[in-house]
Amino acid sequence: MDVAMDCLFCKIAKGDIPSVKIYEDENILAFLDISPVEKGHTLVISKRAHSEALIDTPPDILAELLAGAKKVGEAMMKAGFGGFNVIQNNYRDGGQAVPHIHFHIIPRAKGRKGPLEWRSGANPYRDDAERDEFAALLRKNI
Ligand code: AMP
Repeated sequence: MDVAMDCLFCKIAKGDIPSVKIYEDENILAFLDISPVEKGHTLVISKRAHSEALIDTPPDILAELLAGAKKVGEAMMKAGFGGFNVIQNNYRDGGQAVPHIHFHIIPRAKGRKGPLEWRSGANPYRDDAERDEFAALLRKNI
């Protein structure tokens, strides 16, 4: 992997920092966001290369990331959610806190009214057990 020193998501991709994994293959890793906007909020990152934002990322890596986002979205629908949002922030002024490209896949419960509340930690897990239940539900449906 073409890693960047001191990049949090490169360290997660390499397994040097733990994450709650939903899916991985040779190209991508999908794992739970630590401060979920909705329970089940998942991030998809590349394991192959470090780049910061959409316009810095080669098309083949983008294709792999989007295929990963699709896989996670399909799992959310199979798991019984009513829909999902895909968000990808670019650069600090675009709200990007971690400068390693990632897609947010955010499940929306059936019948959920109103717009997405885009706020870090808007819907935290009660405890690690609840977090692990959501992870298991998504993993089971991938
Ligand atoms: P962005 O603002 O688009 O860069 O999103 C970065 C996301 O990474 C935020 O939603 C954070 O909650 C999430 N995050 C930061 N550190 C971790 C971590 N160690 N494990 C999982 N998610 C993280």
